[in-house]
Amino acid sequence: MELEQIREAKSGARPIAVGADGVRRRILCVFPSYTKSFGSFHNAYPLLGVKAFMPPQGLLVIAAYLPRHWEVRFVDENVGPVKERDFRWADAVLVSGMHIQRRQMNDINRRAHALGKVTALGGPSVSASPEYYPQFDYLHLGELGDATDALIAALAASPERPPTQQRFTTTERVPLDQFPVPAYKLAGMSRYFLAGVQFSSGCPYRCEFCDIPELYGRNPRLKTPQQVLAELDAIVDDGCVGAVYFLDDNFVGNRKAAKELLPHLIEWQKRNKYPVEFACEATLNIARSVDLLEMMREASFWTVFCGIETPDPAALKAMVKDQNNEIGMLEAVKTLNSFGIEVVSGMIMGLDTDDYTTPDRILEFVEASQIPVLTINLLEALPRTPLYRRLQAEGRLIEAEGRESNVDFKLPYEDVVGMWRRTFCTAFAPEAIYRRFRYNQEHTYPHRIEIPPTGKLKLANLWRGLSTLAKLVVKVGMQSDYRDVFWRMAKPALKSGDIETVIHVSLVSHHMISFAREAEAGYQGASFYSQKLAQTS
Ligand code: SF4
Repeated sequence: MELEQIREAKSGARPIAVGADGVRRRILCVFPSYTKSFGSFHNAYPLLGVKAFMPPQGLLVIAAYLPRHWEVRFVDENVGPVKERDFRWADAVLVSGMHIQRRQMNDINRRAHALGKVTALGGPSVSASPEYYPQFDYLHLGELGDATDALIAALAASPERPPTQQRFTTTERVPLDQFPVPAYKLAGMSRYFLAGVQFSSGCPYRCEFCDIPELYGRNPRLKTPQQVLAELDAIVDDGCVGAVYFLDDNFVGNRKAAKELLPHLIEWQKRNKYPVEFACEATLNIARSVDLLEMMREASFWTVFCGIETPDPAALKAMVKDQNNEIGMLEAVKTLNSFGIEVVSGMIMGLDTDDYTTPDRILEFVEASQIPVLTINLLEALPRTPLYRRLQAEGRLIEAEGRESNVDFKLPYEDVVGMWRRTFCTAFAPEAIYRRFRYNQEHTYPHRIEIPPTGKLKLANLWRGLSTLAKLVVKVGMQSDYRDVFWRMAKPALKSGDIETVIHVSLVSHHMISFAREAEAGYQGASFYSQKLAQTS
C-alpha cells in the first residue's frame, strides 16, 4: 500500500473517485425514520436522553467513500427531520433504508424532487426490490462497489435530474477489508441508544425466511481486526456511551475468523479500560465453542441475539434451520449464560407448522429458558428468500394495506394475530419479564468479568447514568402500576451499588411492557416487517 492510500484508509476517506476529478458536489445523506417497533426501544429514549436506536452503518460508509473534496451532510430522520435549507444546500440527495422504511424513503424522494434535487437510493430494500422505488433518479443496487463509482461519476458529470431513472448494479464489490471507517462523526454517537460496527458480512446457513444469504452471500467476507479497532476508536472518540453492537449477520459465520478477531478486541478493551460492552448476532450453536465463549467473556460481550424462531423441532426442520435442532436449545442458552452472556431471542409465529397449542409451547420455552427479551414476530415473506418463492408458487402472498403480514397463513388470519397478541402480552407482563431478568441477575451477570470502573467513568456517562436512574425512579418506581415489581429488583441492587443493572433491567422492561400494552390496545403491529405493508406508498 502506498503511504497516501494508508492515510486515506485511516482517515476513512477515499482517493478522488472515478470521474470526480476537480468537480465539487454537496451531498445530503438522509436516513429515513423507522416506524416504531418493539425492536426500536423508542420508549426508552426519553429516559436515556438519546434520540434514536443506532446510526445507519451503510449510509455512513457511503458518506466516507465519497470523494474527499465533496461536502457531505448527514441527517437521520429518526433524530430530526431534514430541513428545507438542507435540501436547498445540496446538489444531490442520497437515501438508504430497509423495506420497513419504504414509505418514508419515497417521501424523502418526493420532498427532494419538490425542490428540484437529484436523488439516489441504495441499501438493502432497493437492492432486493427496485420496483418499489420508481420515482428515484438513480438506484444503487447491491453493495459498495462499481455501482458506487458509477453513481459518483454520474453525479460528478451533472447535478441535474436524468430524464429517466438510471440503475447501477454492483458486479464488483469493494472488498470488506478495503472499506473506509464509517463517517461516525457526521452522526454524533451520543445521540444513539447503541453504536454499531461490522466485522463480517454474509451467513453460511439457508434459513427459508432469511434474505441474508442471497443479499450478502454464504461465504462470509471479512474486515481486518485493525479496521474493526479503528472503527471502535472512532466510535468512542465520538462519544459512544454504552454498548457496541456487531452488525455481522452471524458473528460466528466464520468461526475461525471470529477467534482471530477476539484477542484484538480483548487487548483493545484492556488498553482502553473497557469503555464499552459488546453485543452481536450469532447462531445458537455458538454454545459449542467454549474457547470462543471464554474469549467473548473476556472481551466483555454481554448480549448475543440468537434466532431461536420456534421451540418446535418439526418447524425448525421445515424452515431449514436444522442447526438449532442439532443442539439442545435450552442447554445452549444456559451455556451462554454461564459465560456472562444474556441471550436475546427471535421467535416467529404464523408458521405453516403452527397450531392452536403454539402460544403455550412458546411461553413454556420462554419460561424454561429465562430469556428476558424476545422479538416475537409474525412471519413475513421477504423478497429474495426461498420462503417468498415458495409462497408465491402456492399463491399465498397477500399484499394488502393494513394487514399484519403478507403471508396467507394456514390458520385463519384473525386467529394467528390474536395468538401473537396473547403470547406477546403474556411474555411481557411486568412480573414475567422482571422474573426472567432476576434469573439473569443471579445466573448470568455474576459470570461477567470485573471491569475497571475508569473506562466508562467519564463525566458525561456519570451524568447520563444518574439522570436516567432519577427518571426511572419517577416513571417506573413511583408512577407505574408495577412499581412493587420494580422495587423488588431495584432495592437490593441499589444497596449493593449495582446501578448499571437497575438501569438496564428497568429501562428494557419499561419499553417491552409499554409496547405490549400498546399492542394489547391495538396500537402496535404484530411484526417488525409487517408495518411496511400498512404504510407502503
Ligand atoms: S442463521 Fe441467521 S443470518 Fe444465517 S441464514 Fe439463518 S436467519 Fe439468516
